[in-house]
Amino acid sequence: MADLGNPKHTIAVLQKYQFHFQKKYGQNFLIDPHVLEKIIRAAHIGKEDFVLEIGPGIGAMTQYLCEAAREVAAVEIDGNLIPVLKDTLSAYDNVEVIHADVLKLDLKEMVQKKNGNRPFKVVANLPYYITTPIVMGLLESRLPAQSITIMVQKEVAERMQAQAGGKEYGALSLAVQYYAEAEIVANVPPNCFMPRPKVGSAVIRLMRHETPVVQTEDEKLMFRLIRASFNQRRKTLANGLANSGVFPLTKERIQECIKELGVSETVRGETLSLEQFARLSDLFKRELP
Ligand code: SAM
Repeated sequence: MADLGNPKHTIAVLQKYQFHFQKKYGQNFLIDPHVLEKIIRAAHIGKEDFVLEIGPGIGAMTQYLCEAAREVAAVEIDGNLIPVLKDTLSAYDNVEVIHADVLKLDLKEMVQKKNGNRPFKVVANLPYYITTPIVMGLLESRLPAQSITIMVQKEVAERMQAQAGGKEYGALSLAVQYYAEAEIVANVPPNCFMPRPKVGSAVIRLMRHETPVVQTEDEKLMFRLIRASFNQRRKTLANGLANSGVFPLTKERIQECIKELGVSETVRGETLSLEQFARLSDLFKRELP
């Protein structure tokens, strides 16, 4: 029975192993069973599922995952946690703990070995210092990660889910939403963690689109355009792009492309939808040498 995710048991395990939190690894362990249950429910884990957990900590969420899933692989960077996990997960024979840096591990090979090319799910209370590289790495890798249910900093979750026009909307919103449907499923206050983080947290679920929601001739160009468009948020899109120096186009040519989209040439980047960025990217492509 999963029982780790409460303050009493967490403290007992930490004392038994004389564990010291390492700030550099973003270690904030969940100590609220209701939050753990909510995450598992939101991830829709079933007995047929293979689940990748990133950063199991002392294994509080891993225990829930082992109960709900067919098989779990948990990747943990901190060597001091490996003997702890061996102990806390000893009742389960459907989990493998991998001692590695998730950003350096060949996830493709690991997932292929464990689950073939079949879809799998990712569930994690992420180390916040590497949220973006982990999430974008998973989305861009084209691994069949059907859903990614993760605890992240609240502000980052809001940016991932943001729609055009809002102040949270930016390159991260567009990058995530190109690959997946993003939905915040819970807000989680600092007192649900040990130690308490300085920021609020949220659980967000990313459901991968089966086919991209927009078509563009050159995906890389579109993402370059998106990044350049949000670098100078106070400027109009045309000024921002002309100043960025990323594209060898005059301000006038840029304005003409923007006008061809059917929007005002004084528009700001944050009002354009993903669809409009895809079209603008195709217009740029036509103009570029
Ligand atoms: N899952 C546990 C929980 O919910 O209580 C711990 C979550 S804690 C926010 C993040 C975990 O990720 C820590 O155990 C930390 O050591 C681990 N971690 C940090 N950087 C990592 C990396 N690059 N690769 C794998 N694990 C990492």
